[in-house]
Parts: sequence; structure tokens; C-alpha cells
Amino acid sequence: MEPSCIFCQIANGVVEADILYKDDLAFVIKDLSPRAPIHLLIIPMQHLESLENGTQAETFVFGHLVQVCEKMATNYNTSKDGYRIAINQGKNAGQTISHLHLHLLGGGMLGPEG
Ligand code: 5GP
Ligand code: ZN
Repeated sequence: MEPSCIFCQIANGVVEADILYKDDLAFVIKDLSPRAPIHLLIIPMQHLESLENGTQAETFVFGHLVQVCEKMATNYNTSKDGYRIAINQGKNAGQTISHLHLHLLGGGMLGPEG
């Protein structure tokens, strides 16, 4: 838990959020500024900073996050027509929150950026 991290605060109930899915390793919320009809954030409970130097346990968590994406895409009826999973890694990609997270974008045609 990083006390100043918004995703840690949500994971630990310090900040309230509408949590769409939760298990021991991950939780899912809607993005505050959606860039697609469906824009969800799949977030590990643990404060993982990035994909670098991943331990085996972290790699397992990462695989789980992708599985949760697929589950959410199915729940939101965007699995068949398609969706995008995106990770902004570092400043050149525009990462704003340093707690690793996957963007799930779907629900319609997506542009190259959206
Ligand atoms: P990044 O740019 O780091 O990949 O993604 C961070 C995302 O989190 C952004 O798309 C932003 O809209 C979203 N976001 C930032 N703060 C909050 C928040 O407090 N609640 C929710 N639900 N989303 C947030
Ligand atoms: Zn965090």
C-alpha cells in the first residue's frame, strides 16, 4: 500500500469507488474520463509500479489481469465484436498513475488512439 496512490486508496477502501469486480488479486472500476463506450481499468490489489523486473508472482498477477479483462469484456458484451487492452508504460506513453493498470476499451469501433 502506497498511501499517496489513488488506486491503493481505492483498493483499501480509503477512497470510495464503484467497484465492478473484485477478487484477491485485482479489481475493476470505470475510467473517470472514458475514451470509448466501455472503458474499464483492471488494477492489481498490490501496488506494482510497472512491467519492469517482474517476479514470478507478479507475472502470475499480470496473467490474471488479462483473464479478468476477458471476463469483463464478456460481461459487457464486447467480447465477440472486439476490444482493446492497453497499458501506458512510462511518461512517453502518457502514464499518469504509477500503479500498474490495464485499460479495457470496447463497446464500439475504436480509433487508433481510443
Ligand atoms: P494512465 O494514463 O496512467 O494509463 O491511466 C490512468 C487513468 O485513470 C486515466 O485514463 C484516468 O482517466 C483514470 N483516472 C484517474 N484518476 C481516477 C480516479 O480517481 N478514478 C477513476 N475511476 N479513474 C481515474
Ligand atoms: Zn498503488
